[in-house]
Amino acid sequence: MAKEREEIVESSSGIITTTVDFVFNWARKSALWPMTFGLACCAIEMMATGASRFDMDRFGAGVFRPSPRQSDLMIVAGTPTLKMAPIIKRVWDQMPEPKWCIAMGACASTGGPFPTYSTLQGVDRIVPVDVYIPGCPPRPEALLYGLMRLQDKIMQEQPTRFVFGRGNVSQEDVEGAAATTAEGENAAA
Ligand code: SF4
Repeated sequence: MAKEREEIVESSSGIITTTVDFVFNWARKSALWPMTFGLACCAIEMMATGASRFDMDRFGAGVFRPSPRQSDLMIVAGTPTLKMAPIIKRVWDQMPEPKWCIAMGACASTGGPFPTYSTLQGVDRIVPVDVYIPGCPPRPEALLYGLMRLQDKIMQEQPTRFVFGRGNVSQEDVEGAAATTAEGENAAA
């Protein structure tokens, strides 16, 4: 939060200067739309998280969508069986970018108490997971904590790198490469 404040400079005349990355990330983290689906018992805790006592809406993530095409957050809450795995993958593929995934509970993270032939041993075998939440089941507070960690992760992203063609190269990489080139030139001279 302190870092977020540092990235906004507000003048007395009502003008705010900040970066496009910050605005994109702030908008994205403040309006996450989770996909409506649950696989087993953990989904009950997820539903409780969305209800009035825990109120997931406080974090801008309370609007569960009934279509993957309107969702940008997949919360895998429950036991992913091998039979269900292709369906989970299809739903994930139907979600538009940018999108994120939370593995909620031991089953979604590692297969949990089911090291059996019928259970996928972690949903990260079929979709990329951003945040893992331990527990069997995790309480709603744990899901809210995982959601906040995901928001922190979103704030570290650089969405404009695709616009300005820097690809996956970070500013540190660019500065490191420049320093190496300068050293090489000095050595040659
Ligand atoms: S982690 Fe525990 S509570 Fe969650 S789906 Fe698996 S068995 Fe059920």
